[in-house]
Amino acid sequence: MAARYARSSLCCKSVSKSPSLTFFGAAGEVTGSCTLVETEHARVLIDFGLFQGAMSQEQRNRVPPALDFRRLNAVVCTHAHIDHCGRLGMLPRLGFEGPIFCTEPTATLLPMVLRSSANLQKMRVEEFREGTGPDAVVLDPPPDSSLQDDDRHEDPPVLYARGDAERVSRNLVGVPYRVWREIVPGIRMRLHDASHIIGSASVELEITHGASRTRVVFSGDIGPSGETYLAARGHAPEADVVVMESTTGSRPIGTHAPDTDASLREVIEHCRHGRRTAIMPTFSVGRAQVLVHHLAQLSREGLLDDIPVYLDSPMAIRAAELCVQHPTLLSGTARAMIGRGHSPFEFDSLHCLWSRKHSLKIAGRDGAGIVLAGSGFCDAGPVLHHLETALGHDRGFVVFTGYVLPGSMAESLANGVAKRVRINGTELDVRARISRLQGLSGHADADQMCDWVAGSGHVPGLVVLNHGDDAARIGMESRILAAMTTKVVRPACQDTVALA
Ligand SMILES: [Zn+2]
Repeated sequence: MAARYARSSLCCKSVSKSPSLTFFGAAGEVTGSCTLVETEHARVLIDFGLFQGAMSQEQRNRVPPALDFRRLNAVVCTHAHIDHCGRLGMLPRLGFEGPIFCTEPTATLLPMVLRSSANLQKMRVEEFREGTGPDAVVLDPPPDSSLQDDDRHEDPPVLYARGDAERVSRNLVGVPYRVWREIVPGIRMRLHDASHIIGSASVELEITHGASRTRVVFSGDIGPSGETYLAARGHAPEADVVVMESTTGSRPIGTHAPDTDASLREVIEHCRHGRRTAIMPTFSVGRAQVLVHHLAQLSREGLLDDIPVYLDSPMAIRAAELCVQHPTLLSGTARAMIGRGHSPFEFDSLHCLWSRKHSLKIAGRDGAGIVLAGSGFCDAGPVLHHLETALGHDRGFVVFTGYVLPGSMAESLANGVAKRVRINGTELDVRARISRLQGLSGHADADQMCDWVAGSGHVPGLVVLNHGDDAARIGMESRILAAMTTKVVRPACQDTVALA
């Protein structure tokens, strides 16, 4: 397909009635994913995720995008990560009760994620008013006010209730991968496995306008290539316009991911010889399955026989079960194990913790062990009481894996900067040993992203870089322009990109 977008440009929405994309989040940042696809006759929203991070970011969630939700025809959700789906629960109150298309595994995960998010919002505001909320603050050095404002005079936002989450869940439409589906007259859709988390998808839209057809691909979050627990993904489908994430774009060319298994072996040895318990803050959907899958492999080598591993996140346990229910989406090795009647996410020393009671029981445990605990950002969830018991002790051991949100306590700890913290009202000097494992990202690295868009040999007429900070987007732009002759744009939030 020839590139047809030589004249594509950033422009004001009101200028053209041509198909267009308007970015309402995750444009020059990594949360709040939300893009409107607009034609003369149809409006489709791709993702509606939460802004996350400092309180000023969270407060942005209160203000919905400047669009008439009652005139939306459909919503498509790429995957069940909160920064892509977390505001879907607002849709009924905003006037949209139409279909929300996603893959079948995502349609199973989303009700759990949205219910959990609604419960968390309710709990946070109640705790805030009672002064009993979880707090996790770096006291020394004081946080960079430009990144982390701790202005908690306003209630945390309550965007929707559990009832809204239930209503939205009834509108989910699970669609098989690789099957064309007309989602609104003039726009048909096909989902492609993105191998980022179970059920994750890139979205291909074919938009008919007049006598023309335009194909637009939204990458969603793209998983790494190489051996993971998920099936290998393909390249970007042929399209006129590719909208792609660039989260990892700033990594210098030529650097390679470290050996994850070797790093995990070191953690296990340190636990064994030091008789320490490693606390690993973990995202429940994605990172937790990556870690458990790696640990299961090491267990089969006999490395974990004497080391209990605690998975302290009911959502992570359910996500692993969902993986097993969809073996065709898993790697050949994982599929073969399931075929033999074994789960690739289970091993003898793994203990799944379903309740806060069980979680509290193992907090502060002595002896060799590993605790995988949500949440990865260290701002809520069971990880806080594990950190509270571990950080202040010389024998504490905390291992961060992959991405940490800039300005968060997790970042300050992971970078070895935090000297004194307050967790749930307890002030602690940080004495624990802190490590950071690289190479466990659920995102393709910059070279892999470039290969994803350029690897098929087809050159899109326009590449739009959204998800990623500016350094990452500029790095990704350089890579893409070195690989192929195309046009690359980096829209800001609220910008509209005309497609013709
Ligand atoms: Zn994601």
